[in-house]
Formats: sequence, C-alpha cells, structure tokens
Amino acid sequence: LRLPVFDYREPSSLEEAVSLLREHGTECKIIAGGTDLLPSMKQKLFRPKYVMSLERISDLGGIGFDEKQGLQIGSMVTLSALETSLTVKERYPMIRDAAHAVGSPHLRRMGTVGGNLSLDTRCCYYNQSESWRKSRPRCIKLGGDTCNAVGGGKKCFAVFSGDLAPALIALGAEIKLLSHRGERILPLRDYYTGNGAEPLARDSDEILVNVKVPPLSQDAVTPYFKYRIRESIDFPFAGLAAVIHVDKKEKVCRKASVVIGAVGPKPLDVHEIAEIAEGKRLDGRLIEEISNLARKAAKPVDNLGSSPEYRRHTIKAFAKRAFQAALVGYGQ
Ligand SMILES: Cc1cc2nc3c(=O)[nH]c(=O)nc-3n(C[C@H](O)[C@H](O)[C@H](O)COP(=O)(O)OP(=O)(O)OC[C@H]3O[C@@H](n4cnc5c(N)ncnc54)[C@H](O)[C@@H]3O)c2cc1C
Repeated sequence: LRLPVFDYREPSSLEEAVSLLREHGTECKIIAGGTDLLPSMKQKLFRPKYVMSLERISDLGGIGFDEKQGLQIGSMVTLSALETSLTVKERYPMIRDAAHAVGSPHLRRMGTVGGNLSLDTRCCYYNQSESWRKSRPRCIKLGGDTCNAVGGGKKCFAVFSGDLAPALIALGAEIKLLSHRGERILPLRDYYTGNGAEPLARDSDEILVNVKVPPLSQDAVTPYFKYRIRESIDFPFAGLAAVIHVDKKEKVCRKASVVIGAVGPKPLDVHEIAEIAEGKRLDGRLIEEISNLARKAAKPVDNLGSSPEYRRHTIKAFAKRAFQAALVGYGQ
C-alpha cells in the first residue's frame, strides 16, 4: 500500500502552523506521530493535498502539575512519555493505565496524546483497502448513503476506539483548541459528536494544543478496563473508565463518574450511574443495578471483530468490577 502524493509542511511555531491552516485548512491534515493518519492515507481513506507536522513546535510538549490547577499535558507528548511520567503514575494512575493500554510499545513511542484524542472512528467495513471497499456499496463515512454494518442504516456507526479519552473524560479533563480566530476551551466530552462520519467537534483549521485535568483526590478509585483480543497490540472492543469516591467507613458512594468507550461513535458518560449511586451505600444489589445501567448504555453494532452482545456483556462486567474494586479500595 503506497501513500498518495501530498505536500509536506513542517512549521516551527504555533503562529506559523495556525497561518498554514488558515490558508489550507480544508485540504490539510495535521500529522503528529502518524500512527493512525498514515495507515488511513495508505488505504486511500482520504488524500489530503497538504500534510502538516507538529513535531518542531516546542510549545506543544511537556507535562506539568500544580496542586491547585492539576495536570497539563501538551498535545505532542507521546504516550510512552505519559505512561512513564512519575507525576502521572503517582497522581493519576488511570491515565498511566490507559496510555499503557494503547497498541504496542512502538506505537506508544510514536503516538501522541493529541493524535490519540483526535483519532478517526473505525469500522471493519471502512478501515480496508480501496479495492476491498469497492466490493461493497459506498458507505456514509465515505460519502455514500448506506451503512454496510447495519443493513439499511442511515447514519454512521463507526466506533471511537481511543483508550485515553474515556479515562480523561471521567477525570473531568478539558482541552484547548487554537486557530486564527483565537483559543477555544472545551470539556473533552464535547470534543466528540457521536456522529461516526464526523466524529470530532474540531474545525479543520484548529489545532489541539493541550489537555488539562483537574486535581484528583488521592482516595479516589480509578480503574480503566479494556477488552481486546490480542493483549499486545489491538484497539479496544470495549473499555470502561471510572472515578469512584467511597466513604471507607460507611461504604457510601460519594461520587461516581463512569465513561464507556469503543461501543459507539463517541466515549459515553453514563451519567445515570452517578444519579443512582451517589449518596447510597454500595452493596451487591446496587452494584448489580449500576452494571445493568452500564450495559444498557452501551449500544455497539456488528462493525468490529467481536460481537455486540459480547461487548455489551463485557461493559457490564467491567462496571461491576469497578464498583467492587471501589468497595475494597483498589488502586489506592
Ligand atoms: C496496529 C495499531 C494498533 C493500535 N492500537 C491502538 C489502541 O489500542 N488504542 C488506541 O487508542 N489507539 C491505537 N492505535 C492508534 C494510534 O496508534 C494511537 O491512537 C496514537 O496515539 C495516535 O497518535 P498519533 O500521534 O500517531 O496520531 P496521528 O496519526 O498523527 O493523528 C491521528 C489524527 O489526529 C489528528 N491530530 C493529531 N494531532 C493533532 C492535534 N494536535 N490537533 C488536531 N488534530 C490532531 C490527525 O490529523 C489525525 O487525524 C493503533 C494503531 C495501530 C496502527
């Protein structure tokens, strides 16, 4: 598979990058580590006229922490830098776990935080070579009018399969986007549209600059669970991130934030769980109710390499495991 021809740009400052995007935004793709962009270009899923690298822009690097402000991660920080950061490991173990769960060591060394959060959605009928795709009707994500995964479906169900987003959303992260119009701060959860064909609320001339994560109380239980077939490399088929605060003595759930990933076009905050769990004593019955809510919220379709029923069931098991872990204080 060969790359299509494109014009490569490598700005050395944010100002230069913003001005290039102002001029060429709709015809230009940003490249960070390239681990997602380049395979897709080789499959001719898109053929941008320009590819603009962020590699030389020093303002996009660095991991910083402040007790009051929390954590700040530059969009060009690699996943391996994130998973090996002592601050991240000690203060936000779930971010470390989610970064570590991505692909393989090679991909984590090249892949960046900005690229991971800005991944395109995936579908087994879409992420295929051009000749394979020609054997099927053109799907909605490719500009056609049918969904090959859901016969007769009139919307795109391609899956957001990033590992970091569910964890960062559960932790209440926000992102900074920059364009020639200025800066825009967005809760990370609003970065995802829920439309598989156009999954990100990012204008083509915007750059994701950094992610901020609020301070996290050290007694929170924060597991990230991922289901994949090959432990050494695969994208998730289902994922669940939870931030749970439990009163140790009374076993009362003070706060709960549960986000499920890879079971739909966007990472989904299952807010119903907080509604039923907060202020209640965690026991077997409540945990069963919580895990049923997580299962109900997951609406996978048959477009990845594992059945929708199994993925739903896995989400339920993950939710149960997360709250059982909170009862015994896992991760503290
Ligand atoms: C075999 C294989 C397995 C993988 N497994 C996983 C997995 O388990 N979990 C997982 O999460 N991912 C997985 N990936 C996907 C990918 O490797 C990672 O998500 C990686 O973090 C992407 O980052 P990148 O810097 O390489 O992104 P790129 O490929 O450079 O970019 C990805 C997208 O983000 C956009 N982008 C990048 N940076 C910015 C920015 N700062 N502002 C705006 N837009 C930006 C690009 O334009 C592009 O559309 C896998 C990939 C492969 C090939």
